[in-house]
Amino acid sequence: MEEKCCSKCGTSVKEILETGFVGCEKCYDLPEIKNAVDKMFDGKRHPKNEK
Ligand SMILES: [Zn+2]
Repeated sequence: MEEKCCSKCGTSVKEILETGFVGCEKCYDLPEIKNAVDKMFDGKRHPKNEK
């Protein structure tokens, strides 16, 4: 299995998911990280359900 890494800081997706910390803002460009962050901050950063 190929391990995806951030093209800027080189932090691997696995590492970010394990620690919960991204290396830099570019890490969020990785789809896996984007999905994970969306789940982590579910409704907090983007309160879609708030009306
Ligand atoms: Zn990065």
